[in-house]
Amino acid sequence: MEKLWERVVRFHGHECPGLAIGFKAALAAKEYLGCDDSEDEEILCISENDACGVDAIQSLLKCTVGKGNLIIRLTGKSVYHFYNRTNGKSIRLSLKSSKTQMDRKNYKKHLLKEDAKELFEVSETNIHLPEKARIFNSVTCEKCGEKTAEHLIRIQNNEKLCLDCFDEYKRFYVEI
Ligand SMILES: [Zn+2]
Ligand SMILES: [Zn+2]
Repeated sequence: MEKLWERVVRFHGHECPGLAIGFKAALAAKEYLGCDDSEDEEILCISENDACGVDAIQSLLKCTVGKGNLIIRLTGKSVYHFYNRTNGKSIRLSLKSSKTQMDRKNYKKHLLKEDAKELFEVSETNIHLPEKARIFNSVTCEKCGEKTAEHLIRIQNNEKLCLDCFDEYKRFYVEI
C-alpha cells in the first residue's frame, strides 16, 4: 500500500489530499470491480473532475485519455464512475463531505488510512457504459486546411469547417 502511494506521488509530482482521494477511489474500484493488473482497456473511468485525484487513477488503473478509457465529464464533483467491461461490474463513488477542520497534511493522512466505505458513498453507476473509443474518418477543413475527426466538423455555407473556423450561432449573451 505504501509502495503504491509512493508510485502515485512520483507520477503526480507532489503529495496532496486530492491525490489521496483518487488513490482511495482507484483502490476501492479495483476491489469492487474485481480487477487484476492484467486487464488494460477493460477498466474504464469517468471522472467528474479534472483535479489531482485523476492522476492516481491513471497511475494505478492504467486508465488514460489516449486509450479512451478515461473520460472527464466536468461537473466539478468528487465523483468517479468505474466499469469493468470483462465482468460487467460498475460502481459510482461520491466523496462524502467531511465535517472535520483538518489542515491539508492531516486531511491527507486521514484520507489514506480511512476505509473507502467511510470516505465514499458507493452505489451503482447512473451513467451507461460508454461505447468503446471509435476511430473516426478525418476530414480536412475547407478554410484552414487542417484535418480533424469527422464528428467535429461543422457545415457553414456548404463548407466543411473545423471548430476553430466555424462561426458559432450564439443568440444569447448574458450580462452580469
Ligand atoms: Zn496534487
Ligand atoms: Zn479550420
